[in-house]
Amino acid sequence: MKTLILSFLAIVMSSPVLALDVQKISDTIYALVGEKQQRSETNLANNATFGVVITDEGVVLVDPGGSWKGAAQIDSEIKKLTAQPVKFVINTGGQDHRWLGNDYWQQKGAKVIASSAAVADHKERETDQLIALDRFLGPKFEGTKPSYANIEFDTEYSFTLGSTTFDITHVGQAHTPGDSFVHIAKDDIIFSGDIIYVERILGVGGQSNAKSWIEVFEALAAKNPKIIVPGHGHVTDLIESTASTYDYLVNLRTRLTTYIDGGGEIMNSVGIDQSAFKHLLQFEQLARKNAQQTFEAMEWE
Ligand SMILES: [Zn+2]
Repeated sequence: MKTLILSFLAIVMSSPVLALDVQKISDTIYALVGEKQQRSETNLANNATFGVVITDEGVVLVDPGGSWKGAAQIDSEIKKLTAQPVKFVINTGGQDHRWLGNDYWQQKGAKVIASSAAVADHKERETDQLIALDRFLGPKFEGTKPSYANIEFDTEYSFTLGSTTFDITHVGQAHTPGDSFVHIAKDDIIFSGDIIYVERILGVGGQSNAKSWIEVFEALAAKNPKIIVPGHGHVTDLIESTASTYDYLVNLRTRLTTYIDGGGEIMNSVGIDQSAFKHLLQFEQLARKNAQQTFEAMEWE
């Protein structure tokens, strides 16, 4: 009886897992859109957007999921779309959701591709990321262990699978030091990773560089893609991406420049006007932090 009660409690207490929102872009390209909130037991650290490209020689996955169980959740969604195996996984950056699912896919035979700057960032921050994930995911963290890319590149890497060519570009530091975007020219689509956020506010952290992020965005925008699969949020275009990511970063730095030129101190830098972006999710949690982080970086410029 006691065992029965305990197993009943275990079922009641373990949180249900949130489904990924599967957005069909074409017969062969999908976005898997995760929650736009903090990592949690219910989102398995899949609180980001992932890309799935099906070719007649296998699948390319853009970002592996934020945990072992997160990667398994992505796998089960891909199996509903195709019988093709995942051959390549691209890590578009250094955040947990861009690489901590690697081990799952490598054990299934996929090769992981990342910029060298991203791999250096993975090694640099893995301890902090694992500690944080353990705390956010609780029992759902089980099985997650760091594993690095099989193929590294400095600034550009292209490969073809089936009849689809993937061009990966690392311009410089954006949300993380090793951020890259993935361009499929024939489909006029870019998977931006954490270079682009829509629907929610972006985060400027200690690993970010708001100044070069603006330049990275400009390099991406120069490709003029019709479709963008952002790092966070639903499938979008360059207009919405510009409004919620580029304009946000430019506003942050422009307001802070004026503030610093006027002799402003760090304490009140958090109060600069960001109200044009208050419709974005997580604004209250992140806007002031972003200002402070950017202020600190700008003091060194
Ligand atoms: Zn992210």
